[in-house]
Order: sequence, then C-alpha cells, then structure tokens
Amino acid sequence: MSGTVYLVGAGPGAADLLTLRAARLLVEADIVFHDALVSPEILALAAGGEKIAVGKRCGRHSTAQRFINKRLADAAQAHKVVVRLKGGDPMLFGRAHEEIRYLVSRGVRVEVVPGVTAALAASADLGVSLTQRGVARTVVFATPRVAPGAPANEWLAPVLAADTAAIYMGAGDAQMIAQALIEAGKAAATPVAVVENASRDDVRMLYGTLRQLGALAAELGEGPAVILLGEVLADAAAVARRAIPRKAQAR
Ligand code: SAH
Repeated sequence: MSGTVYLVGAGPGAADLLTLRAARLLVEADIVFHDALVSPEILALAAGGEKIAVGKRCGRHSTAQRFINKRLADAAQAHKVVVRLKGGDPMLFGRAHEEIRYLVSRGVRVEVVPGVTAALAASADLGVSLTQRGVARTVVFATPRVAPGAPANEWLAPVLAADTAAIYMGAGDAQMIAQALIEAGKAAATPVAVVENASRDDVRMLYGTLRQLGALAAELGEGPAVILLGEVLADAAAVARRAIPRKAQAR
C-alpha cells in the first residue's frame, strides 16, 4: 500500500485559524509528524492518529531533516493518510522543499495544504496592513538564519529594497539585524513592531523604531516572534490602542 503525505500548515497557533482541509486531514490522519510549535489543541484533532514530534525550535534539539524525510516516506508505505504538520504555512521557512523533493524521488504522493503564516497573523493582530496605497507596494519575507556555509548577509539587500519586511527567526539576533540594516543605510527611525505569539491568547506586540529593535526583542518571552519593519507600522501603536479589541489589549 502506498499512502499520501500531506504537508499541512497548522497556522500561527490559534486552532480556529486552521483551514477546514487541514482540520479534516488531521481527523483522518493515521499518523502525524509535527513541529514543536504546533499547539496541543490542534494536535487533539488527530484523535485517532499516532503523533510524533519531530523538532524544530531554534537553538533546541531537533530531528535531523534527512531522518524526517525518511520517516515520512516509510510512513507512506504503511499508512494511507500521513500528515506532516508544520507551523504557519508549510511553504515558508519550513524546509518543505526538501521533504517534497525527497518524497517525490521515492515515488510518494505529496499534497500541500496552506496555512496562515506568522507575518500575516501578526499583521492581523496589529490591525496594520502590510501594503498601503502610496506607502508600501512590496513586502518581503526574510530570515537572517542561513544554512551552514551560506553567506550570512544575503537577507540584507532584499530587506533594504522592500517597503515592508517581515523577518522570521530573527528575534534572537535583533540587535545584529538592526545594526546591519542601519549600517547599510536604512533609517534608524524606521518604524518596527515585534509580535510574539501572534494569534494566540498570549500575543504580545511591541512597538518602536529600528534603533530600538534590540531593546524591544530583549523584552520578549519564550514564544516565537516575528519582526515587522517599514513605514506602514508608523501608527501601529496608536491603531492598537484605539481599534483592536484583543484579549491582549486588556492585559
Ligand atoms: N512556516 C512558518 C514559519 C516557520 S519559521 C510560518 O509560515 O509562519 C519559525 C519562525 O516563524 C519563528 O522564529 C517566528 O519568527 C515565526 N513564527 C511562527 N509562529 C509565530 C507566531 N505565532 N507569532 C510570531 N511569530 C511566529
């Protein structure tokens, strides 16, 4: 028997941001391989399936990618519905390409189910559109995190060129990111927002300028955080105070 591996986006955290297709596949799943960031509430949907954690939280132990690839292919030999559940959208910073390439090379059927990516969940929490007429026409998704041996600053030019940048996996390097951008000519007064635990009850939104980015990031807790940068964020703090009826605002 040969099953299908579904690369499923779990979204940013809130269970009710799952797509209906993702929820259905979790219910049907024989086995689920999931990231560390996926919430227990979402995993609970896969009541009948075996659940296996396979990493990844930056800086912590995670299962080697090659091993994950192999386990997915092996699972497809034994099960009909194999779900590979990834935080946010599987196709952004999730190494989906490596899994797809490997599975296809082994003759395993693969389907991808999109999810809400962190930057867009953060944008929703902030109440700030990442594009704005006359202000921002381009958005870049970037990360300073690179594979061993890759050039360390290849993220810099696209972030400088974009009107709005969403920087993933960058909170731990926030000071370095700010310094590199300012040295490369980005205005130190560029507005930034850092959103931790976007879409979750414990969401935190911090506002400032590029100059303050390191200090803002130092206030973060243990949750995943995305950095948003650009003029669209100029009035983010004011918007949040006025308009966002979030549980977080009541804290
Ligand atoms: N595929 C995921 C990204 C995986 S990389 C997606 O599309 O969202 C992991 C990074 O995503 C984290 O370091 C953080 O920058 C960001 N992230 C994931 N979940 C988040 C959340 N709920 N709030 C803020 N940032 C988040």
